[in-house]
Amino acid sequence: MGDSMKGKVALVTGAGSGIGRATSLVFAREGAKVMVADLAEGPVQATVDLISAGGGEASGVTADVSNTGDVKRMVSETVSRFGRIDAAFNNAGIHTGVRIPFHEYPEDEWDRVIGVNLKGVWLCIKYEAPVMLENGGGAIVNTSSVAALVAGQGTSAYTASKHGVAGLTKSAAMDYARQGIRVNSVAPGEIWTPMMDLIITSNNFSKAQKDDEQPIGRMGKPEEIAEVVVWLCTDAASYVTGHVFPIDGGYMAT
Ligand code: NAD
Repeated sequence: MGDSMKGKVALVTGAGSGIGRATSLVFAREGAKVMVADLAEGPVQATVDLISAGGGEASGVTADVSNTGDVKRMVSETVSRFGRIDAAFNNAGIHTGVRIPFHEYPEDEWDRVIGVNLKGVWLCIKYEAPVMLENGGGAIVNTSSVAALVAGQGTSAYTASKHGVAGLTKSAAMDYARQGIRVNSVAPGEIWTPMMDLIITSNNFSKAQKDDEQPIGRMGKPEEIAEVVVWLCTDAASYVTGHVFPIDGGYMAT
């Protein structure tokens, strides 16, 4: 066990799978008490159980980040359970999977992707920040993507949502820079999670092909994002705010 987050409280959304679960485990390994949030009870409890099995402390809450009432309840349950929020990882996100040309993209799917990926992050910051201001500060990390920096084909809503997360990150960083809240974003490249499995199967790609497309020769592991997220929330990153960090095996250098 490390101690870089000892005594701190971390809230993680999308914590029942992939990057969110891996980051919850690293927060716990580093001594934080973790509030595990996701849509469904089963995946939430599974992450809580993994943390408990490793000797950490965690509690769970179900919440849809695109729903205002759910986000308010998620934040208030975190405060009721642990008394404060020092670190928030706003990570929940969705991807359409199959590529759809711009003019054929369905409006309801646009609303769904923007609602979770962009409005969801906005709602989380909106209700987390006042709790952090009461504590005297904190650190927020939002999951964007390399799709916040470049565009792929057939992913208009996802790309727009993730560019939006980069903008929200910078905007919130400016608003809270003198009030002790640092706000950053991680921009993962292609990471081997259930979301990537959906993208691969929807488009008839293969895992080997995706591995080979990465400059480093393989897709990333969720743990390789988690370590950067948790570092950004520690005092070691005390002068880091307003940035979008690619963690991408060299993808953005090509
Ligand atoms: P994942 O599908 O394994 O996990 C996403 C989690 O978010 C799931 O547990 C899901 O239930 C949850 N979620 C979805 N909608 C939600 C909602 N409305 N409210 C609350 N929770 C919700 O995927 P992942 O790869 O771990 O993705 C995590 C984040 O990383 C996402 O924001 C995704 O866009 C981003 N990302 C992933 C990759 C990648 O290659 N895997 C690359 C770049 C960015």
